[in-house]
Amino acid sequence: MAYDNNNVFAKILRGEIPCNKVYEDDHTLAFHDIAPQAPVHVLVIPKGAYLSMDDFTARAGDAEIAALFRAVSTVAKMVGVSEDGWRLLSNIGANGGQEVPHLHVHIFGGKRLGRMVP
Ligand code: C5P
Repeated sequence: MAYDNNNVFAKILRGEIPCNKVYEDDHTLAFHDIAPQAPVHVLVIPKGAYLSMDDFTARAGDAEIAALFRAVSTVAKMVGVSEDGWRLLSNIGANGGQEVPHLHVHIFGGKRLGRMVP
């Protein structure tokens, strides 16, 4: 599948749609999910046009890949979930339930989360 420049996160990155920003650096943007599934629910996305984790690790440079994972931990600290624990999740493709075709990882926290069972 080719990357769709009109997906909603591409529009957020271009400033065409607003987001509730938590963190930004040269390679990464993080914002509160518009429909939170936990008391803390933040999305972290690369600024580059990557469809999925597979696409990201195949095409992104090491600096971009490192930036995404460093941003995840930075954001977890910023939103106050580091101490008590939290969950990192990325839905990939149709079977993974990915709705927005731009790589994103979810940070969930702020309560004792249920077990993840497919
Ligand atoms: O992993 P998946 O693709 O299913 O998740 C997409 C996420 O993007 C959803 O949790 C949805 O609430 C969120 N979203 C958002 N802001 C938008 C559109 C979608 O936070 N404008």
